[in-house]
Amino acid sequence: FFITLEGPDGAGKTTQLTRLADAARQMGIQVVCTREPGGTPVGDAVRRILLDTAYSEMVPLTEVFLYAAARAQLFHQVIGPALKQGQLVLCDRFIDSTLAYQSYGGEMDFSFVLETNLQAVSHRLPDLTFVLDIDPSVGVERRGSGTADRVEQKALSFHHRVRDGFLSLADKFPERIKVVKGTQSEDEVFAVIWNQVAPLLEK
Ligand code: C5P
Ligand code: MG
Repeated sequence: FFITLEGPDGAGKTTQLTRLADAARQMGIQVVCTREPGGTPVGDAVRRILLDTAYSEMVPLTEVFLYAAARAQLFHQVIGPALKQGQLVLCDRFIDSTLAYQSYGGEMDFSFVLETNLQAVSHRLPDLTFVLDIDPSVGVERRGSGTADRVEQKALSFHHRVRDGFLSLADKFPERIKVVKGTQSEDEVFAVIWNQVAPLLEK
């Protein structure tokens, strides 16, 4: 089973992923947790390029290919093999982040970005995706005064397009993508997620 968590920075994806992994392990399920961009040595190297504030000149098309490259490596090295072994794979961001950031946010053609990334993951979409939805300004607040990476430094209008993008994706793929209100407490968000995941794991 393959589950992804999506949403803007500061939405609580990493926290919820950890809780989900703990809960599944308590049921005796083998879990692999990973994240994007990164999750492999090659992917982590690509991540450093993508987030380096020194590269403010990076054009959106370069971003599309770099994210897809990191994703291809992660899929073939980690996710695909784990799924084959019947493990539960939990991923912090995946293909929907790319559609939201590079297509809705970066205004790259939707079909082009989707097709490029379907190639990268051998057409294996997640079984279930949770979008933790928060207002971009809340995300900025939660991030605190720490230094922003290259993407986080983009204008608030970009981050609003990204958020609307995630919501549009949930409309497009209602069976797979569930929107969870990220402003609820950590426990409330987890309860919503667990209510949908637990029945699948019990099968
Ligand atoms: O979730 P995480 O903080 O690890 O993401 C790293 C950065 O990459 C964030 O600033 C996020 O907004 C950005 N990102 C992106 N396009 C993606 C995935 C992540 O711009 N497809
Ligand atoms: Mg972050």
